[in-house]
Amino acid sequence: MTFHKIFLFDFDGVIVDGMEEYWHSSLLTCEKFLNSPNITVDQKLYKKVPNTFKEIRPWVKYGWEMVLITHEIIKKENPLNNLNKDDYINQYQKNCQRILKENYWLAEDLQKKLDKTREYQIEKDFEKWVNLHNPFFEVVKFLEELKKRKIITGIITTKGKIFAEKILKKLNIFPEFIFGYESGTKIKIAEKLSQTYEILGFIEDRKKTLIEIKQNSKTSHIPCFLADWGYLKKSDRYNLNNGIELLTLENLEQIVAI
Ligand SMILES: [Mg+2]
Repeated sequence: MTFHKIFLFDFDGVIVDGMEEYWHSSLLTCEKFLNSPNITVDQKLYKKVPNTFKEIRPWVKYGWEMVLITHEIIKKENPLNNLNKDDYINQYQKNCQRILKENYWLAEDLQKKLDKTREYQIEKDFEKWVNLHNPFFEVVKFLEELKKRKIITGIITTKGKIFAEKILKKLNIFPEFIFGYESGTKIKIAEKLSQTYEILGFIEDRKKTLIEIKQNSKTSHIPCFLADWGYLKKSDRYNLNNGIELLTLENLEQIVAI
């Protein structure tokens, strides 16, 4: 039996740089739906993505964390800034959980609010929203190349599927599969796909996810590539083991040769 070939991609930080959109949508969520007494949203805040936000992005796994971090950055008292950023990062998960608790928030609620903000923007001015995403054109080209070679493509993202789909459509990319956070964990999705497809590779910018894939006996055979152009922690580039390869945009073409 021959398996169809498939190539897998993460979305944010791999196909598009969504930094401007994350900040914009998280801030708008804070302004419109969060109802927090600890913040006031000055319109000037929309103009520039703060460095603290950019620097914390590599630690983010789910969208709701960005809303929470934005709230901490714009807080009137004891905001999260460059001076205390490292303390936050060092206990990233713990800090996110603590802030959820302090504010009586639920992660799922924050995620719903963020999704609602995106829906609101799409309805109001789709072009403006979609243009907040900057595609990595080398990756777009690579996706086209795979299509030419009749290799199936699948995108696995922690974003809502509908949002990834709209951005991809705008870029003229129509993958066979798009899995959003609704579909479960990336590792489970990869596990399932590997039962019916020959997975040629998975490009992702979250090292932890790739390590998990490599440590799972059902997915350890998948060639894993860490996207050097994505949201990486400084330390991510070092001590790559378990057969995870660091991939640059320039090197993308070489893996087409497969
Ligand atoms: Mg990513």
